[in-house]
Amino acid sequence: MTYDPANIFAKILKGELPCHKVHEDENALVMMDIFPQSKGHALIIPKVASRNLLDANPATLSSVMPLVQRVAKAVKAATKADGVRLVQFNEAPAGQTVFHLHFHIIPVYEGVALGTHGGGKADDAELAALAKDIAAHL
Ligand code: AMP
Repeated sequence: MTYDPANIFAKILKGELPCHKVHEDENALVMMDIFPQSKGHALIIPKVASRNLLDANPATLSSVMPLVQRVAKAVKAATKADGVRLVQFNEAPAGQTVFHLHFHIIPVYEGVALGTHGGGKADDAELAALAKDIAAHL
């Protein structure tokens, strides 16, 4: 499987499509998932192109994991969630729908079931407010 540079996250990284940005540095972009499985669902997207974990350069993984941890803590603090899940899918049969490596941080609230993967679209104003709040906790 090869990397398709026309995927939606590549377009967002290039600024060709909008996103609710939480953070950006030389290595990665952090944004809100617009079809969140829970309130505060965020995505960490390394800038270096790969389809997923299987073809990623280990150096990319080394550079991005500290940010994944920071985002997990910031999401938990901003949303006051009871826990967070780190999720990452590799190839379509495993649930991957966008073929540019990314990590999901999904807050979990005690007693609240998670929504479906790629379910309903969230309200833009709510996503914008969450992005700002999570950025403030980074
Ligand atoms: P995956 O199934 O791991 O490839 O996840 C892709 C994720 O991207 C899903 O959770 C989608 O809800 C999310 N998603 C798809 N399009 C967009 C978009 N334009 N902006 C933000 N998140 C998106």
